[in-house]
Amino acid sequence: MEQSVKGRLLDGYDRTHDRNGVSGERLATLASVGKTEDGGVDRPGFSEEEKRAKQQVVEWMRGAGMDVRMDGAGNVIGRLNGEAGGPAFVTGSHLDSVPNGGNFDGPLGVLSSLEMVEAWRETGYVPPVPVEVVVFSEEEGSRFGAGVMGSRAMTGKIGDGELDGLMDFAGRTFREVIGTYGSTPEEFLAAARRPDEIGFYTELHIEQGKLLEQADLPAGIVKGIAGLAGLHIVFRGEAGHAGNTPMIGRRDPLVAAGRFVHDVSTLPSEIGDTAVATVGKLTVSPNGSNVIPGQVELTVDIRDLDKEKRDALVLKVRETAERCAEEQDAEIAISQLSSVDPAPVSDEIRDELRDVFMEEGIEPMELMSGAGHDAMNFAPMAMIFVRSQGGISHNPAEWTDLSDCVMGVHLLKRFAERRMEKMARANED
Ligand SMILES: [Zn+2]
Repeated sequence: MEQSVKGRLLDGYDRTHDRNGVSGERLATLASVGKTEDGGVDRPGFSEEEKRAKQQVVEWMRGAGMDVRMDGAGNVIGRLNGEAGGPAFVTGSHLDSVPNGGNFDGPLGVLSSLEMVEAWRETGYVPPVPVEVVVFSEEEGSRFGAGVMGSRAMTGKIGDGELDGLMDFAGRTFREVIGTYGSTPEEFLAAARRPDEIGFYTELHIEQGKLLEQADLPAGIVKGIAGLAGLHIVFRGEAGHAGNTPMIGRRDPLVAAGRFVHDVSTLPSEIGDTAVATVGKLTVSPNGSNVIPGQVELTVDIRDLDKEKRDALVLKVRETAERCAEEQDAEIAISQLSSVDPAPVSDEIRDELRDVFMEEGIEPMELMSGAGHDAMNFAPMAMIFVRSQGGISHNPAEWTDLSDCVMGVHLLKRFAERRMEKMARANED
């Protein structure tokens, strides 16, 4: 078991990837940060386990010559001074996990950034602008049901009063939990930084899907992060006996909901090829085999890269729900659960990424991120995905070959160097 992560990573690693100061062996050693005894990872945000993982990274950051601090949100910020000052090039990810998660979702982005800094140290490269490697707190939302908290704190995107109502899985308030980090809600909010401190944000992450594997590519360019809008819909009809109520005149909300679930699946293609809509949760009441249901509650998850198209899809979903209710003479109540704006990557940055991929000999494939990431709180930003074996994620079986991880480091490093040159030139103007 002890052999597991590092040994498995080094097995089959193509050592020709060790170049320009980047070391696969070092990256594999760093990967031990993800390990628990059973091979899985259980590191909710603001837990002892997450804190220990951060402390390990703090030591590595110091070892790599970075100045390290922790802000009021528990974000770890390792800073490397550049030849000149100005807004920093920021790169990072998170170390918290979903319950029984995998070793790569999050840690790979942190450790690749660190490996990039180590490689610079080895080759004597001094970045033209300051570089910050950041470990964001509570990305997954496993503790409070609210995700990307550290990056939202850093970018001043925590809503008014949002922290007051939060309760964790053990019934503790936000103040209690953040207290264990030696912080307070006030200090948490004070983690917000001036926009001119951060010039650019980049994140390397596993794909958590199968598109790169299907295309036989080690990495891909993220063209944007889809914005999620959630709807909660209740269809109400009239409960009755399944045997004694004639078919004519029934007001069956499950028939309405059934038609709705089907019709929703046909709507995204009317909007565009990146739009998706999913009914993933349905509660039938009273849920008896011989009872016509009286009520059906469901949720719809609606996403697209383009905000206008996403909002147009939300409208179509609402109209469809109303039509389906009307057909069954059912009542309907629709409420909006959440709405997060999509975060597109600009054409200019995608062009730069395409060049970087081609210079590394990789066909530049673009893909959308359906899942949220810390990167969506920053603009401008870039994201690179590396191949996930079988598309498996949020699972101990999550896996990315070390060769792909190291290719990710090369892409990140090449992109960072190029982007920082442009940032430095912009500062001089
Ligand atoms: Zn992640």
